[in-house]
Amino acid sequence: GGTIGVLGGGQLGRMLALAGRAMGYRFATLDPTPDSPCGQVADRQVTAPYHDAAAARELAELSDVITYEFENVDADVTELLMKESYVPQGSKLLYTTQHRLREKRAIEAAGVKVAPYAEIGSVEELREAVGRFGLPCVLKTAMGGYDGKGQWVIRHEDEIAEAYETLARAGTELVLEQFIRFEKELSVIAARSPRGEVKTFPAAENEHVNNILHLSIVPARVPADVVERAEKMAAAIAEGLDVVGLIAVELFLTADGELFVNELAPRPHNSGHYTMEACRTSQFEQHVRAICNLPLGDPSLMQPVVMVNVLGEHVQPLLDWVVKPESESLEPGVTAKIHLYGKAEAKNGRKMGHVNVLADTPEAAFRWIEASRIWEPNNK
Ligand code: ATP
Ligand code: MG
Ligand code: MG
Repeated sequence: GGTIGVLGGGQLGRMLALAGRAMGYRFATLDPTPDSPCGQVADRQVTAPYHDAAAARELAELSDVITYEFENVDADVTELLMKESYVPQGSKLLYTTQHRLREKRAIEAAGVKVAPYAEIGSVEELREAVGRFGLPCVLKTAMGGYDGKGQWVIRHEDEIAEAYETLARAGTELVLEQFIRFEKELSVIAARSPRGEVKTFPAAENEHVNNILHLSIVPARVPADVVERAEKMAAAIAEGLDVVGLIAVELFLTADGELFVNELAPRPHNSGHYTMEACRTSQFEQHVRAICNLPLGDPSLMQPVVMVNVLGEHVQPLLDWVVKPESESLEPGVTAKIHLYGKAEAKNGRKMGHVNVLADTPEAAFRWIEASRIWEPNNK
């Protein structure tokens, strides 16, 4: 028993609370939006900005264990929570993964490869590094970016000054990365408990649309040795960074079979939502087990699955599909499990839910995705 406090009340916190409640835990969350996705399923919500010290203290008082569902937690808030409650994930993992340069150095120290990168402090340094890496390359803010925001793919020399000026306005350091002409993007979620047990979920093959995750396909359609190497890299990172809880590892796979880590997230990850019905243990249950120092669950895959994200523009077509007889588009042996996050406003591009399509083959899942017409490109 006991109460788990979640800093952040979004969908990741919601699904964490749903899994943890089934295990007998109570939940409290802190979020600025009243009745947040997590707040709707938690016992208590403290409604305040994330950096509000009094609110953080209130969350600490309500909670026996504290975790977070995003990585941009204020250092002062983390320190306060650690003093007033128990934060098994610690502050170091947040400090590392909040900043792309610190993160890349930590990954390299764990013996794992990242795409070639350079720290950029001036437009001259950018020019020099672009000369070294060749075009195209990707300039990123070191902190705060998500869904492709805070980055610029430099394709021509004449963009260098504008790219630098635009991203420098964010006020954080900048990182230049070599552009990796990847064949596929993969991700592996690893869990590590305070007693040092490590388990990895099966690698997912991810497809993005407009820099937002669209599909995760599991098992990934890559050679077995690639999956094995990707899972080993994730385990090495979990160990090297002394992770407690989950660490999501995003990877690029090149045509000649090389793997580079793109970035990390020290929390449940969108590309791990497939685990909810397809694995013996979901990523959310695994995170609860890890932070509560329980033995980790078996992450193995029970059935092939394709996870599709439901963005704002897909909600109405999804609801239209739900009221039709399923047999119109679902062939036998295919199951579409719908998850909605309880967000009020279905803005275009906003993550509102996802569907886990369980099927014997990814092709059968793709046939339903097409037949349902929920993700037609003109649904905007
Ligand atoms: P997220 O929402 O996953 O946190 P983010 O804004 O932190 O996204 P990244 O994951 O760094 O951004 O990049 C977004 C996408 O841009 C990647 O998934 C990949 O498709 C592409 N990308 C990023 N860096 C590179 C690179 N060095 N080479 C090629 N493509 C890249
Ligand atoms: Mg990111
Ligand atoms: Mg990413």
